Amino acid sequence: MPQANILRPVPLEADWREQLRNVITDGPSLLAELGLDAAALGFSEQACRDFSLRVPRAFVRRMRPGDPNDPLLRQVLAIGDELTSPAGYGPDPTGETGGAIARAGIIHKYRGRLLLVVTGGCAINCRYCFRRHFPYGDNQNSRREWRQALDYVANDPSITEVILSGGDPLVADDDYLAELCGHIAAIPHVRRLRVHSRLPIVLPDRVTPELLSALSPAGLQTVMVVHCNHANELDTDVARAFAHIRERGITLLNQSVLLAGVNDSVAALVALSEALFAHGALPYYLHLLDKVRGAAHFDLPEQRARELHAAITAELPGYLVPKLVREIAGEPAKTPISPARGPH
Ligand SMILES: *Cc1c(COP(=O)(O)O)cnc(C)c1O
Ligand code: SF4
Repeated sequence: MPQANILRPVPLEADWREQLRNVITDGPSLLAELGLDAAALGFSEQACRDFSLRVPRAFVRRMRPGDPNDPLLRQVLAIGDELTSPAGYGPDPTGETGGAIARAGIIHKYRGRLLLVVTGGCAINCRYCFRRHFPYGDNQNSRREWRQALDYVANDPSITEVILSGGDPLVADDDYLAELCGHIAAIPHVRRLRVHSRLPIVLPDRVTPELLSALSPAGLQTVMVVHCNHANELDTDVARAFAHIRERGITLLNQSVLLAGVNDSVAALVALSEALFAHGALPYYLHLLDKVRGAAHFDLPEQRARELHAAITAELPGYLVPKLVREIAGEPAKTPISPARGPH
């Protein structure tokens, strides 16, 4: 794609807030726009009542009209399969509502780094999300509650990295983020700020100069981990957002979830890694699905995941192979999944 296009400046009157207000929440009209039949695709209003349908138009524009198997549509469409609840799929597969919540709004599971739950909101509702049942109401950090969370970080010198998470932390506005990041930067033992967000993918106009300033306080190195599962999610708008992020010296990584019917083929995973690098991001993690209730239809056998990972390892340079990991409650880090054994 042409460089001139990628480097076109973000318009000053960036309308991300309006786009956020105008996300699509109505399944039948989304499907009608794509020329698809709601009944044939298994669309379910009941599944929407459990976890609402929510998708920005900027993301819908990258879906292929008339394709019932579109990998982007599959990630956001509420279907009847979600209403089945096979054994082993629970409301809190990663154990976040257990002992890991040290204070309201903090998840401190791993040594040296912790998650700050900045907001419960997301621009998009991904049907496989492990936080679809997370009690965000109890973890909304108001400015007043920051004090507590920041004191917790300040009082633990082992914490060198603070991760802004959610929901999606970039749903919060720039002033809020600038103030929060300024407070984090003022804690002497914190060296890195990490931001986990899907917004640069699903609503790339969110990446404004003001946002990037807020996320780059003096004295901290910033890492942004975006979340993209399929090469079709990456277009020229995303490329432009990525370029702006990188121009600020922010390290740009991607995490994906391995999802049946979305990216569970060697071709899809190779194309994803290649497209990420072409757009300026490095693959970081490929997560096995967290066994959250309502998402069982996205799961695939662990052996199949190992085989896919072995196959992409054989196809790609090492730096384009994401680490295949699973989140196991109580473990000190994400658990790497060892490669497939035996004949291929
Ligand atoms: C995934 C996660 C992290 C970050 O882990 P890394 O392996 O450093 O990317 C930190 N805290 C929690 C609670 C997490 O779930
Ligand atoms: S953007 Fe992230 S937190 Fe929000 S629904 Fe999707 S996967 Fe879950």
